[in-house]
Amino acid sequence: MVSWLCPYCKNRMFSSWDFREKRLIDCLYCQLAFINPYYRKSSDLQLAKDKSKST
Ligand SMILES: [Zn+2]
Repeated sequence: MVSWLCPYCKNRMFSSWDFREKRLIDCLYCQLAFINPYYRKSSDLQLAKDKSKST
């Protein structure tokens, strides 16, 4: 279970999935989009992989 606190209306949303492939989350209450803190770019994962290889 994950949760998001909307920075606009301060309401909290809950979900069983963190939507890590979505950069923006639409607030259920005020319909505004905010940055998903659980978002993971595939390029970041690739960068971490390259780093571990060189060390
Ligand atoms: Zn909101």
